[in-house]
Amino acid sequence: MALFDDDEVDVRAVQPYEATKRYLCPGCNQDIPPGTGHVVAVPRTAPDLRRHWHRGCWRARHRRRPGRSG
Ligand SMILES: [Zn+2]
Repeated sequence: MALFDDDEVDVRAVQPYEATKRYLCPGCNQDIPPGTGHVVAVPRTAPDLRRHWHRGCWRARHRRRPGRSG
């Protein structure tokens, strides 16, 4: 699985009503069930490699960074 720098990835929120399929979160290797709000990260140079993440897993993907609440 390729990882991309933040400035190479477009990130957008997926609202619960938009989540109609089940995805596998690369952060925790757990399912994201349909109807769950999450985020999708789309590499600008490789949109086919977009990944759906739990919101919490996306925020925690860089553990060395100080986290911001909210
Ligand atoms: Zn996850």
